[in-house]
Amino acid sequence: MNKAKYPFLDLGLVNAVYADRIKEAVCRVIDSGRYIGGEENSTFERKMSELTEADCIVGTSNGLDALRLSIMALIISGRLHRGDKVMVAANTYIASILAITDAGLTPQLVDPDDDSMLLTGDIVRQNITADTKAIMPVHLYGRVAWDESMGLIAQERNLIVIEDAAQSIGAKAHVKGLFRSSRAGALGHIGAFSFYPTKNIGALGDAGAIATHDPELADICRALANYGSDRRYHNIYRGYNCRLDPMQAAILSVKLDYCANETQERFARAVAYENTISNPLIRKPSISRMPTDSVWHQYVIRCPRRDELQEFLARHGVQTDIHYAVPPHMQPCYSTLPHRPLPITEQIASEVLSLPITPACTSVKDASDIGRIINQFK
Ligand SMILES: *Cc1c(COP(=O)(O)O)cnc(C)c1O
Repeated sequence: MNKAKYPFLDLGLVNAVYADRIKEAVCRVIDSGRYIGGEENSTFERKMSELTEADCIVGTSNGLDALRLSIMALIISGRLHRGDKVMVAANTYIASILAITDAGLTPQLVDPDDDSMLLTGDIVRQNITADTKAIMPVHLYGRVAWDESMGLIAQERNLIVIEDAAQSIGAKAHVKGLFRSSRAGALGHIGAFSFYPTKNIGALGDAGAIATHDPELADICRALANYGSDRRYHNIYRGYNCRLDPMQAAILSVKLDYCANETQERFARAVAYENTISNPLIRKPSISRMPTDSVWHQYVIRCPRRDELQEFLARHGVQTDIHYAVPPHMQPCYSTLPHRPLPITEQIASEVLSLPITPACTSVKDASDIGRIINQFK
């Protein structure tokens, strides 16, 4: 289907690598006669717990539901209240914001750090008000939005930390989280993962997971995802149906075994871009830190003439994508959402361009070739 010499992403190729093991897993589920919950889900949750170092994992239907249920569990357990403000960087994917408003909380949109494009502890400190009861670090593009100062202000001000770890499976922070893990998704009180097919570890459909060290929150999330039922025919909450499909759990259990390898391969492509791209019109993401500092969900460059660059690359056979061209506060559904001016967010939206980085579709040599093509852009 992809005619480009350097396709951005081909999900068929991504899963072809694991085809035999995926088919085996799917057949196992068919033969098991169990199509809701069960052992496949337990195996997946155990693997996620090992990967994130979170005590509890709850599989969910997708990443947005993982975020929604996480916030609702915080409300049910009395740790957040309707109307509380959740500080979040405004350049995130809209799902982060949808989860906050859906649960009846108010997003407090702030500009991210211009360099990392992430929320930082200093930004939290500069923008915190008496109404700010929670922060949502979004580990955008696979890079961990967590630093010492964020941990300190969270503790000082008793902030609830809800991580959007949809893009950052396997990433590790430099400094410890609030509890015992330093892994993305298990740094704060609760974290959400997505296994949307394009994510670093993608399902063959929709899937997500919640990570927490708090068994009470995990129990509430598990019940909410299952009609609000804590045991059979006993409904303590007005819940939902947001369970993880065991077919996807079985497929994800296969792919999770290769998560560290996937990250390493993505890092190698990021290094190739870093070493090749030298065009003064292009701003590259910083790469000086540890390989697991970012899991390189996207390799995002910035260029003031982004649209021209994208066309130039397309003419040279390089397919690219934009994450994200329109920030949530500029979407029609949030036209009435109050927010401060967000100049950095809006500039980011006009400048970002994602280059191909998926290992199954883009070799290290491809990345170097693409880097050289970028250097010809004037
Ligand atoms: C993908 C994504 C989500 C939503 O996950 P789904 O599984 O698609 O519902 C939320 N936040 C971010 C940052 C994402 O990239």
